[in-house]
Amino acid sequence: MQKFDVIIIGGGFLGLSTAYQLSKMGVSTLLLEAGDIGGGTSASCSGRAQTCEGHLDPLNIQIIRDGLAKHETLEEELGATYDWRKIGLFLLIKSEELWNRWKERSAILTPAGIPTEVVDRNSLQAAEPHMNTANLLGAAYSIEGMLDPLKFSLAYAKAAQRNGAVIQGRSRVTGFEVQNQRITAVKTNDQTYYADKIAVMAGAWTSKVTELAGISVPVHHTHAEALVTERIPEMIFNNVELADFYETIHGKARAVAIGVHPQLNGTLDISEAVTMTDRLHKGVSAWGATSISKELIQLYPFLEKARIVRCWGRPTSFTPDEEPLIGWVPGLDNLFVATSLVITITTVPLLSEWMAMMLQGLTPPVSLAEYSPGRFQTA
Ligand SMILES: Cc1cc2nc3c(=O)[nH]c(=O)nc-3n(C[C@H](O)[C@H](O)[C@H](O)COP(=O)(O)OP(=O)(O)OC[C@H]3O[C@@H](n4cnc5c(N)ncnc54)[C@H](O)[C@@H]3O)c2cc1C
Repeated sequence: MQKFDVIIIGGGFLGLSTAYQLSKMGVSTLLLEAGDIGGGTSASCSGRAQTCEGHLDPLNIQIIRDGLAKHETLEEELGATYDWRKIGLFLLIKSEELWNRWKERSAILTPAGIPTEVVDRNSLQAAEPHMNTANLLGAAYSIEGMLDPLKFSLAYAKAAQRNGAVIQGRSRVTGFEVQNQRITAVKTNDQTYYADKIAVMAGAWTSKVTELAGISVPVHHTHAEALVTERIPEMIFNNVELADFYETIHGKARAVAIGVHPQLNGTLDISEAVTMTDRLHKGVSAWGATSISKELIQLYPFLEKARIVRCWGRPTSFTPDEEPLIGWVPGLDNLFVATSLVITITTVPLLSEWMAMMLQGLTPPVSLAEYSPGRFQTA
């Protein structure tokens, strides 16, 4: 009988970090991942621990500020390096409306412990001498974190395993047994597992997994394509994104929001071409690579001859109100769900501690009720 206290479904940042926290508490934990560890969206992301781009309500500001602080000692705690470092971030501003909006955001973020300022075009040009700033008024500037997302995923997986958690890749969940409003068993193609509590942390695949238990959660996704260049001389010094990233991509059939992230090995991670689609897949398109390249060369003309080494695509989940989904699912007594953190890498070290507490029936130091799945229930 393969019985555990908690079964987690999904081996991305959320599932792995929560498995680690549970195992640290002495809770017997099994994590089932359909493919490779981190092989969903997590290990393929840009690795940014974002700071100034989240929602401005007190809970979001707190989890960003305190989550970021956790990273400072996390490599030591997990006993593995994941190339944690700090880097400047410029969010490019093209319009007066955006300039004013970021002035207002900075006035809230800075005193709340997330220093952010708006700088003019001359200052931006001085910091990024090879950028074409012709169409820009300036940028919002902040400091953020960077890490290697595959190493980060594996650091959590290995630390959880050292604490006794069972982390199982190539184990797709194909069904559940449900009795008296409880999930009593979790099935893969060739095994059946039992646990008191089930946590679905399956990213963009979350609603597909909960549907196997007859439960619908409003988790949607967009499909994002990204690419990496060959090594280039050190001519880009900060992360660069659009100040209106979310408006640029959301609600559009397809759109490019250029993001440029210099890597430790001298390559550039370039994101992202976004498509609205119902299909969950990991594919790339000619449109994606060419549209990203066009925007990139517009911003950094010296990259015209840089070679693309690899392109990839992954789904990113979001909820109807674009807030995280965390908590017990109405309709079943032992089903927990967590996905769509919005600012994931920064907040996951802190939120995973709190999610592990909730899975143990404990109350986290700060209520996550506003992220509860129950908020989407109609009367
Ligand atoms: C191009 C790109 C760049 C990004 N950059 C950043 C960034 O810089 N910073 C940041 O914070 N966020 C970034 N994101 C978003 C970030 O990657 C996601 O928020 C994060 O990876 C989600 O983690 P997760 O654990 O919820 O989901 P995932 O990493 O997708 O993990 C869910 C796992 O569930 C597994 N699964 C699905 N179905 C089943 C099943 N039936 N049985 C078992 N397992 C199953 C999947 O295989 C998957 O591995 C980026 C996203 C993209 C696409």
